Amino acid sequence: MSKPIVAIVGRPNVGKSTLFNKLIGQRLAIVEDTPGVTRDRLYGNCEWQNHNFLLVDTGGIEPSVDDGILLHMRQQAQLAIDTAQAILFVTDLRAGVTAQDADIANMLMRSGKPVVLVVNKVDSLGAPPLELYDFYSLGLGEPYPVSSVHGHGTGDILEKICEYLPDQSEEVEEDDRITVAVIGRPNVGKSSLVNYVLGEERMIVANEAGTTRDAVDSDVENRYGKFVFIDTAGLRKRGKVEDGVERYSVLRSLAAVERARVCVIMIDATTGFTEQDSKVAGFAHEQGKACIVAVNKWDAVEKDDKTMQEMRKKLENDFSFMAYAPIIFISAKTGQRVDRLFELIKYVDSQNALRVTTGVLNDLLARATARVQPPSDKGKRLKIYYMTQISTRPPTFVCFCNSKQLFHFSYQRYIENQIRETFGLEGTPVRILIRERG
Ligand code: GDP
Ligand code: GDP
Repeated sequence: MSKPIVAIVGRPNVGKSTLFNKLIGQRLAIVEDTPGVTRDRLYGNCEWQNHNFLLVDTGGIEPSVDDGILLHMRQQAQLAIDTAQAILFVTDLRAGVTAQDADIANMLMRSGKPVVLVVNKVDSLGAPPLELYDFYSLGLGEPYPVSSVHGHGTGDILEKICEYLPDQSEEVEEDDRITVAVIGRPNVGKSSLVNYVLGEERMIVANEAGTTRDAVDSDVENRYGKFVFIDTAGLRKRGKVEDGVERYSVLRSLAAVERARVCVIMIDATTGFTEQDSKVAGFAHEQGKACIVAVNKWDAVEKDDKTMQEMRKKLENDFSFMAYAPIIFISAKTGQRVDRLFELIKYVDSQNALRVTTGVLNDLLARATARVQPPSDKGKRLKIYYMTQISTRPPTFVCFCNSKQLFHFSYQRYIENQIRETFGLEGTPVRILIRERG
């Protein structure tokens, strides 16, 4: 099920990133690091009681130097309104209520999105300072005093946020439509692919920067099944709006990934791989989505019989953190291998939902540990007692063992590879959680 998004909005220096780190640090659910994505983190998984959500710090979204601070803030706020289920609006007790706060508050209020008003830098415990009450003037209801540095008050805002989020305790029945997000840098050909798939040039609407864009998803039914292509910022043509909008598309693609079961990570064959490609891909990986790397504009590449093999090799290296993702060379223009892409989407989606019985897993474990002895240190050897699958999308396994320390990353990798080999698992991340038991 897709996670709701909660966005943090507010002026510079009010403490957004401090609050973000506090909330993420406390409830960090991400289990692994992906190169290239963990630096300057803009988003993180948050867990609070029965709720899971994705927290996004809009303050971290590449600041636009020349836009002027108010415009920048408005764009951030608009982005949060468009993509988030709930918003944390952060203000600063020491600075008091500023005109910019009032401006943004007004925007948020008119949007009708649930907003929790945070008054940060209330460091002293005890009776709330009188200045706190000034913040009622923003018209966003009760101000919540918080000290992001110390963590005071964060429980209250998490609780309030969760009241606004959908109830996640019930299992939602799975749709027979596969949700697909085509993600990638501008101009790699995302909308061309969707247009090709839809078999028509869609009506394309130019959007003004900062106006509300309703997401438009596209239903596709063909001999491979039923699919929904999720709209991402890049899928809509913005006419020739200045590229300021593009800077804000990061969060939109994150939101699209969140809603998708399968992510098609699109690369432009004529320009090759860039750092930015690994960022979006890393996000899909971390969120446990089935992934395919699609190298588009294959028609425009001058090639001989070795070109594909060479490019594949290079990409395998670039995407080594998601070695499970199949790589396919397509052309959205001519339709080359788009059929095959649909086959792959179906396939990786089923892999993402793989379920393995505990009996089979433990046979595998017995064989794996017999073949390669678990690591030991100072006479103590890792013992893995038992392994079981706790969830799908992505397949997630728990290993109970005598010592977490001894369960080195390389041995985890080995177990993961054994699972992949045994079940032919491809196209999906796999998670292995380690639990100690005395
Ligand atoms: P952002 O620009 O909104 O992301 O703000 P930052 O998180 O970078 O914080 C701006 C400054 O305020 C930094 O110097 C922080 O250490 C400080 N700060 C953030 N939260 C608190 C707080 O709860 N109490 C105090 N005293 N300082 C804080
Ligand atoms: P988006 O920004 O990722 O949605 O990219 P577009 O779909 O708008 O494509 C950007 C440009 O690349 C357009 O000029 C397309 O005509 C061109 N393009 C897209 N796919 C292909 C392809 O498969 N082959 C070639 N030669 N050009 C393509």
